[in-house]
Amino acid sequence: PDSFLSVRDLRVRFSTEDGIVKAVDGLSFDVERGKTLGIVGESGSGKSVTNLTVLGLHNPKTTTVEGEILLEGQDLVTTPEKEMEKLRGNKVAMIFQDPLTALSPYYTVGRQIAEPFMKHTGASKKEARDRAVEMLTKVGIPQPRTRVDDYPHQFSGGMRQRAMIAMALVCDPDLLIADEPTTALDVTVQAQILDLLKDLQQEFGSAIIFITHDLGVISDMADDLLVMYSGRAVERGSVREVLREPRHPYTWGLLSSMPRLGGSTSQPLTPIPGSPPSLLNPPSGCPFHPRCTFTDKVSGDRCSTERPTLGDGRAAACHLTAEQKQTIFIDKIQPR
Ligand code: SF4
Ligand code: MG
Repeated sequence: PDSFLSVRDLRVRFSTEDGIVKAVDGLSFDVERGKTLGIVGESGSGKSVTNLTVLGLHNPKTTTVEGEILLEGQDLVTTPEKEMEKLRGNKVAMIFQDPLTALSPYYTVGRQIAEPFMKHTGASKKEARDRAVEMLTKVGIPQPRTRVDDYPHQFSGGMRQRAMIAMALVCDPDLLIADEPTTALDVTVQAQILDLLKDLQQEFGSAIIFITHDLGVISDMADDLLVMYSGRAVERGSVREVLREPRHPYTWGLLSSMPRLGGSTSQPLTPIPGSPPSLLNPPSGCPFHPRCTFTDKVSGDRCSTERPTLGDGRAAACHLTAEQKQTIFIDKIQPR
């Protein structure tokens, strides 16, 4: 496939007072041009760290990065910061959960959209301001010619999210990383922002990495899905495949703890028992084994001693046999 971004065996470690945190531990994935990869997992699964590393936004003093992050063949792990600065906000851009982390309260919205455009394209002030108005129009801000001179605090939460999207897309990036972009918004605004992102993806043709803890949002947004746990990928496939017939006990847990889409809201939610693993001292073997209710179906103590690997293509990193993965899901997990 036409892989635009190819991450290979990525390992990200932080040194802390308590020891080394293995935030990402041998992660590989691909993003195709113009497609959306959803990355789902609980907080602490490594999904945000992975993407900050792709953008080169980690602290080089305390962070060790190994492996490859190939963007059209260029390895971002070894790309110097000076060159990363030219890529960020230009070829690769990011939108965050909280627009106030991206928007400064001290400058007008228009100026903050115009700035990266001037920096990366060499446009004049006037051209950049016109571009800012154009972008505000594209993201659906009413009266863009007036609102371009507003400060972020004069915008509603939903409008700030739109403004941040305008800022991210102003240089027509090939890759957009969206980290929980709608989590802080109410359901109606959330749906509007997701629709907007889909429309803009059509127009701009950007590949998107969409990070979320919410499988409900992903079904609508992504083409492919990567499920992360403890700094590793535990399941991969097309969104359809993974949501219709998930093959990993952790994904089963995520699905059962999610309100049924369009289903009865009175259905009780089953949270995954236990808590996410320590990244200082990750569990031996399968990182999910302390929380997994299917370890007795695997012979011997393989779950606690042998790390399952994730194969290529449609795959789940779990010692259960292919048949077990299918029958357990159909008999016990599948929503009725
Ligand atoms: Fe559960 Fe064992 Fe599969 Fe890990 S390898 S998910 S512990 S059954
Ligand atoms: Mg996060």
